Amino acid sequence: MSILTSLSHAQESRYSFEKGMMGSPFKLVFYAKNDSIANIAAQSAFKRIEKLNEILSDYRDGSEINMLSAQSGSGKWVPVSDDLFNILAISQDISKKTDGAFDATLGPVVQMWRHATRKGVFPQETEIREAMSKTGYTKMKLDSKAKRVFLSQKGMRLDIGGLGKGFAAEEAVKVLKSFGIKSIMMDAGGKIVLTNPPPGTKGWNITISNGSDSLKTMALSHIALATSGPTYRYMEYNGIRYSHIVDPKTGIGLLFHVRTTAISPDGTVADALATAFSVAGIEKSKKIIALFPDSKVWLVEKQGEHVADWNTLE
Ligand code: ADP
Ligand code: MG
Repeated sequence: MSILTSLSHAQESRYSFEKGMMGSPFKLVFYAKNDSIANIAAQSAFKRIEKLNEILSDYRDGSEINMLSAQSGSGKWVPVSDDLFNILAISQDISKKTDGAFDATLGPVVQMWRHATRKGVFPQETEIREAMSKTGYTKMKLDSKAKRVFLSQKGMRLDIGGLGKGFAAEEAVKVLKSFGIKSIMMDAGGKIVLTNPPPGTKGWNITISNGSDSLKTMALSHIALATSGPTYRYMEYNGIRYSHIVDPKTGIGLLFHVRTTAISPDGTVADALATAFSVAGIEKSKKIIALFPDSKVWLVEKQGEHVADWNTLE
């Protein structure tokens, strides 16, 4: 390290901010020259996420995404904001590459399961079939020139919960960069985006777990990683635990899912892949990952009595 860079590093301090957002703890760590830059940058980043939440939340009736869903089956192409369009475009691309393992049109099924979880009653087969009939990513069409969306069937409901936090993390990092901040770790509820390492280090020390005792710590930078697992959110019925990640082929929460971590250059893609690999399972994911040459995965799943582990992280 030259004298010059070590001097400039010496002027930077570590700052850390935390806030509950999108139903999860969001944590921001970065290096900045002084308190006032750090505070305004962090507040601006959180504000950006709040704005995104207004657009993307499936809990708010008035959110842009819910108003778009409400127009499904109307035969109309609906103009949407750049943010909503961009997130749906990434989602659609991942759906195609994962043969539908990732599917942002699962809203009706996700809603049904949320309701069932709250009541502690397993849905009837007819209910599952009914909800499933309103899903399918091929029923969503995108017009990238005019930024318009077409939802072909009435009753469709978009749900970008599978990649929304990764997208929020990427957007927050863009805001911080616009303040001249270079070393950033943004952790949006387990979806992490990293830029430059902390000054004078090789990387951010990130510890990844396989869901039980096995841990891996890596020094990472300029990369994103996302973990998905039924740690907090799942449905337990008759002693069986169903993941909140749904298999789009059956409409039922995953039974074999233990934990998935995906690493990608982009946070939105990492988040979507963690969800998609969880659905696809180890064997299919081995084929899917060929379409994502810059991504890596650590996937743990139950196979009967055994726990199978597939790890391409170095
Ligand atoms: P989190 O880590 O916040 O739980 P995940 O990235 O694991 O989020 O995604 C789970 C969420 O994604 C679910 O709560 C639901 O909203 C949505 N979802 C469920 N199954 C799928 C799927 N097969 N494809 C895309 N999104 C899904
Ligand atoms: Mg995800």
